[in-house]
Amino acid sequence: MGTSGGGVRPVFGAVEGGGTKFVCMVGTSPSDVVDEITIPTTDPVETIGEVIAFFQRPRPDVQLMAVGVATFGPIGLDPNQSTYGCVLKSTKEHWSGARILAPLSRRLGVPLGWDTDVNGSVLGELRWGAARGLDSALYLTIGTGIGGGIAVNGEPLHGLMHPEVGHVPVPTLDGDSFPGICSFHGRCLEGVACGPALAARAGRPVPEISADDPIWDLEARYLAYGISAALLVVSPKRIILGGGVMHQRHLLPKIRRDLVEVLNGYVDMPELREGIDSYVVPAELGQKAGLYGALVLAERALASIGKVPFSSGREVE
Ligand code: ZN
Repeated sequence: MGTSGGGVRPVFGAVEGGGTKFVCMVGTSPSDVVDEITIPTTDPVETIGEVIAFFQRPRPDVQLMAVGVATFGPIGLDPNQSTYGCVLKSTKEHWSGARILAPLSRRLGVPLGWDTDVNGSVLGELRWGAARGLDSALYLTIGTGIGGGIAVNGEPLHGLMHPEVGHVPVPTLDGDSFPGICSFHGRCLEGVACGPALAARAGRPVPEISADDPIWDLEARYLAYGISAALLVVSPKRIILGGGVMHQRHLLPKIRRDLVEVLNGYVDMPELREGIDSYVVPAELGQKAGLYGALVLAERALASIGKVPFSSGREVE
């Protein structure tokens, strides 16, 4: 979007909602940030109230055209359901059933885009990051939990709900008696391979686990199984790995190696052979992926006015 003859410049708002903080920005791209704020996540009324106040700040030179929200889930994404725009049953205290979009719509009166933080991240990485120029990718974050966002044909993937790649079942590796920590499944991917699972298995915080500890071989293998499940179903053109656990730089080469081994030549593409290093890649936008993806959600909301609830708040030229 360009500057319009010295007048008021159109911009988007973006929100990444996380368990500990909400980050909000006004702008049009990572290189055009007009304003930004970090708000601690408390209860929904207070937190969303501060988000609204941020977007309502007077900014005479710009006009807010739409706002995108990428947030922790699970969330309601079906415009035909009453849960649209709400957090569903959440393990985050106070947030089960919290209405996010309704107050934003009422107070801001602009079209609103809406998706999970990880679907936001995959959109951000497609536009500005590790999957630039592609129309499909899987984004997997391995941190306090494991979450996956998927884009297909440039669109974030939704269906019955949204993808929950973190909870795919994984086989139990020989000799591994760790029971897993997922409160729903025990030993799903998240249950055996998220940061807290690693720490519980090792008996110390993740940053204190040495690079040559055999625990990393287990970690890589489990992640390779989880990634292979998503790969075989979705067939993404790139796999992007982010989150705190991936700060252990020695882990990525192990995951690549194990993914190739687990698939065992079945997916007969260069990406699963000599091209593996550019197929399974680290996130480029870091912690900002979801925030920048929310800009893309805002842009999409503006383009689809009238098609979904909360998107008809204001007439635009
Ligand atoms: Zn699980």
